[in-house]
Amino acid sequence: MSFIFSPIPQAAVPIADSDAVFPVHRIYCVGQNYAEHAKEMGATGREAPFFFMKPADAVLPVLPGTTGEMPFPGMTQNLHHEVELVVAIGKGGRHIDAASAAEHVFGYAIGLDMTRRDLQSEAKKAGRPWDTSKGFDCSAPIASIHLLQHSGWLTDAAIHLSVNGVARQKSDIANMIWNVAEVIAYLSKYYMLQPGDLIFTGTPEGVGAVQPGDVIEAKIAGLGELHVKVI
Ligand code: MN
Repeated sequence: MSFIFSPIPQAAVPIADSDAVFPVHRIYCVGQNYAEHAKEMGATGREAPFFFMKPADAVLPVLPGTTGEMPFPGMTQNLHHEVELVVAIGKGGRHIDAASAAEHVFGYAIGLDMTRRDLQSEAKKAGRPWDTSKGFDCSAPIASIHLLQHSGWLTDAAIHLSVNGVARQKSDIANMIWNVAEVIAYLSKYYMLQPGDLIFTGTPEGVGAVQPGDVIEAKIAGLGELHVKVI
């Protein structure tokens, strides 16, 4: 059997201090996982976690020391940044206990859950899916993955995002409503997690719009930096 045309190349993310890359299987995202962001989105901040997905090839991998270029997408007047801790899964499983979640983590990265906020607001009002607001091309810029064995299990780390040098988002991953272990436990009740899955764990308050020409700088303590220019 032969493919009728060449398959699209496997989406992949660089790994810090390695020539190997991490092949992306699925991208899961947690909604409203920081109380102050949930409030700015109009929620009370006490809801159970919920999930949505982006296609694997929505990743925009950015190598260390470089600035990724994200094309401003069509069909939006309000493109928002959301800085997030990304968890890379190295060992799959279903119904994973929070207590053993660390065994399934390959490493961590800094990611941006770029969002067409105007389309998301319309979808929320109409009770429609979020795919066009969340799962578009290049909607998941991501820096190199840092191995768990180097970073250690993260329970607190400063998370920060600036646009053109002006601070926009500033928090700590300790402020997540559902921590990484709980997110893995919850998510693995719904899906068979697989090696190669990425989990975007939600964004803190301070989301806002970017325009073509803007440069986004995202940082999480211990995980380096992610630089992305909107073009
Ligand atoms: Mn998000």
